Amino acid sequence: MQGIQVGNASSKGRGLFASKAVAAGDTLYAAGELAIAAINTAELPRFCYRCYAGSRPSTEQWYNVGQRRDAELKVCTGCQVARFCGARCQKQAWKKYHKHECKIFAKLKPKVLPEQVRAVMTFLLQRENALLADGLWSKVMSATSHVDDLKAAGGNTWMSLMLMAKAVHEYSQTKVDIATILNLICILKVNGLQLSTTYGDPIGVFLDPTLIMINHNCNGNVMVHRPDYTNVIGWPHRVSQDTAMLKLFPLRDIAPGEELTISYVDATEHVAARQKNLQTDYLFTCVCEKCNKDKAAAKGLSGIDPNLARQQATWREEVDVTLQLLKSPPFSVPLCISTLKSVIAAMESQPCFSASTDPYPRAIHELKLLHMDDHRSVDAALICALKEHLLIGPAIYTSLYYPTRIVNAIYLLQVFALLDDSFTPSPGRDPQLEHQAREIEKMGLSRKSFKYWRLRICVDTRACLLKSGLTDLTNALEMEQMSIGINDRLAVQEMLSSEVVRRQGEEEMMKLLGMDVDRWERLAKPALKTYASLQTGGWTM
Ligand SMILES: [Zn+2]
Ligand SMILES: [Zn+2]
Ligand SMILES: [Zn+2]
Repeated sequence: MQGIQVGNASSKGRGLFASKAVAAGDTLYAAGELAIAAINTAELPRFCYRCYAGSRPSTEQWYNVGQRRDAELKVCTGCQVARFCGARCQKQAWKKYHKHECKIFAKLKPKVLPEQVRAVMTFLLQRENALLADGLWSKVMSATSHVDDLKAAGGNTWMSLMLMAKAVHEYSQTKVDIATILNLICILKVNGLQLSTTYGDPIGVFLDPTLIMINHNCNGNVMVHRPDYTNVIGWPHRVSQDTAMLKLFPLRDIAPGEELTISYVDATEHVAARQKNLQTDYLFTCVCEKCNKDKAAAKGLSGIDPNLARQQATWREEVDVTLQLLKSPPFSVPLCISTLKSVIAAMESQPCFSASTDPYPRAIHELKLLHMDDHRSVDAALICALKEHLLIGPAIYTSLYYPTRIVNAIYLLQVFALLDDSFTPSPGRDPQLEHQAREIEKMGLSRKSFKYWRLRICVDTRACLLKSGLTDLTNALEMEQMSIGINDRLAVQEMLSSEVVRRQGEEEMMKLLGMDVDRWERLAKPALKTYASLQTGGWTM
């Protein structure tokens, strides 16, 4: 292991610790294979069954809507469940596990087993056919399963775990007894992590024998990252020789002996929702510093301003219902947009407005996606993306190297690019986009300041990327850099170092986002200062 060791984390049992001083950008751990993993049934058609590469580069989704054809995955003719990016992955998967499960999947056609069942079944079949690495089985089986707690809690969760164990036992025709299988299913439930694309979209579940030991903290000091080159089929930049499936990177400087923690939950959620999710999914109560601080703040607010506390709870409910609706089509897009807009406006009108208060971050993010769909209102999406970058990101993801923050910045640059191109009318250009680009100008952001911010965010993001371990994302950023015109690129240094341009840019941004000087100084300025403190030297456009 590179820089990590197992130790005793007092009340939490085992934990992972830094064995030496590490800084952002150092690789703490890399896994070449995922011990147990499966793609969600709904996502199976879009991802390679072996390397988890997607059929579409996620960062291109908005930029080239409708222009880029999805790469084709080759479907396994035996089961028609597994799809592969190429012959290499198909051969490897066949040898390592698929030959033993393919016929089982084929028999069940057109029914496809849920991902947890497939994950555990593959692992069992690998063991029975002597395909597992030495010690892997016992390492996984020694993890906590909380099987007794889950049994005592009963209910639907326990029922579905039992059904899954039965399914694995029956379909795999294994000699392993059902109690062991149930234990394994529970181990996956309480230790499994979300398999995501590089850009954070959830696509399945995985369990890594080393990461099993890492404890949770709502403000964790390390991150798990799936490098980009494992993620995109036929991507021109897929040239890396590195074959790690996932890597563990520090989010800040870490001292020798310090415990390493990751967050299992969405940091934008309210403390009550986070705690509930951790209790249901991982069976523990989080007592991290962030939870204590958030709980004290919530309690404090109820004491000082019970009306506002109640009001916040209502806003949360409204956003929860809207997000739920969006998951289950058909839904009314205009209705969802207007609910989110009204919650956002109400929250922003509070004198003590804070961008990190739930549900503000979730509402802004979802509204951005809705506006971006089919280029519905790219101008409004730009405003949401700017709020996310300037106000929300710094307040929630306190490290500059947080993948969510960097990925959001790359998306923001794509929105900038889309509008920038639309300023100059030309045949074949979407008239709707042209109109939206003009709207931004009418709302107060001049062409000059528009370019200033586009360049500024590009430079800041690049500086973050180079210092973090996420260097695989530089390719996506380079695409954005290249799309900035050569004349603009030549003017970059001059523009970014000019005090006059900066001041005008900030004044116009305040106007666009509807903020007064006080709010700007309090919420956006600190983040801009942190970016400015990064070394941006060596950036050639
Ligand atoms: Zn593949
Ligand atoms: Zn097959
Ligand atoms: Zn917590």
